[in-house]
Amino acid sequence: MMVVIESNGSHGGASATFVAPKMVQRMARFHTLQVANVSKETSDCIVVDFKVPEALRTDFSFTHGQYLTLKLHVNGEELRRSYSICSSPLDKDHICIAVKKVDKGRASTQLVERLKPGAPLEVMTPMGNFFTHLDASQERHYVAFAAGSGITPSSASL
Ligand SMILES: Cc1cc2nc3c(=O)[nH]c(=O)nc-3n(C[C@H](O)[C@H](O)[C@H](O)COP(=O)(O)OP(=O)(O)OC[C@H]3O[C@@H](n4cnc5c(N)ncnc54)[C@H](O)[C@@H]3O)c2cc1C
Repeated sequence: MMVVIESNGSHGGASATFVAPKMVQRMARFHTLQVANVSKETSDCIVVDFKVPEALRTDFSFTHGQYLTLKLHVNGEELRRSYSICSSPLDKDHICIAVKKVDKGRASTQLVERLKPGAPLEVMTPMGNFFTHLDASQERHYVAFAAGSGITPSSASL
């Protein structure tokens, strides 16, 4: 879960913001990306770092708060699971997600227990509108309350 409060700095000017004023319009499409690194953050959580080849940089450009959908095959079943992007949109070469293992969860267990660097994964182009437009000339104060895997979209905003 994540809640974002935006303030223009004046007293009492805080309001909850959930709607993105600017949307990147593009066709949702799966591409194969190579896993550059898998780092174990806790006993049940990994950060997966995908390398984005030059040719796919436009397709995988994203805004803070967006997510990736992975297409996985677990015991002969095709699963699609979404994971919020937790890396900076300014890093064009890499895109990271954090996956927490859910008890008896099919996709998350396979990812956390078996995923290795170098593995190819089918990844959909970034989606989602859980962001607010940031403009350096319109300075604001932001406070984020995040719990559980809700930390992931907030870390992409920092
Ligand atoms: C927009 C979005 C962003 C997300 N971001 C993140 C993120 O950043 N990090 C993250 O870790 N997750 C994130 N998630 C959640 C993620 O997409 C998956 O839902 C999560 O990893 C669990 O998937 P799974 O296949 O492991 O679990 P599943 O196999 O789908 O199981 C989920 C639960 O249901 C139970 N279950 C499954 N089948 C049955 C059944 N037949 N009967 C009874 N119970 C059953 C399982 O025991 C488990 O407890 C996000 C989801 C969305 C929609």
